[in-house]
Amino acid sequence: MTKITDHFTLEEMYASEIADRNNIDNIPKDPTILKNLYFLATQLELVRSLLNSPVHINSAYRCLGVNNLLGSKPTSAHVQGLAADIICPAFGNPRAIINAIIGSHIQYDQVILEYDRWCHIGFQPQGEQQRLQQLIIDKSGTRNYAKDTKRKNWEKTVGESEPDMSYRTPKKTTKRTSRKSKR
Ligand SMILES: [Zn+2]
Repeated sequence: MTKITDHFTLEEMYASEIADRNNIDNIPKDPTILKNLYFLATQLELVRSLLNSPVHINSAYRCLGVNNLLGSKPTSAHVQGLAADIICPAFGNPRAIINAIIGSHIQYDQVILEYDRWCHIGFQPQGEQQRLQQLIIDKSGTRNYAKDTKRKNWEKTVGESEPDMSYRTPKKTTKRTSRKSKR
């Protein structure tokens, strides 16, 4: 294992079940991508200290082959080694993670709540302007994170500092399924 920061290894930056299953070499060799992954790891260290809990990376670097298999756009920050899909069960659910990041001084390019299951955090290359975008992506598409949060009552209980574990049993009554007809 190659430790690149205090709590992250290079291997977990490119580990990919999809790559393994499809016999794809997902090990980055491009120096720019490696540099980006080091930068990503330093930013993830900030997230880890903010949450004061271990951060698990579901997926960080993805070569184009892996990225395509996942149905992700070729312009994805993952392809450049500049994004990670993370969870932090010891801290709270993905919304709690995103709320904490939004409330912090961390300069991110994008935080995206994806399918209510993980937090995507992406960056522009080191030294470039980070846009601080906050989005939600799910079956209904892509939308602004803040607006969506205002719309749903039970999610208001997710605080910035307080881990909220109630997401495991969200009140179904607040989830309208009337949009199902939309294809
Ligand atoms: Zn992602």
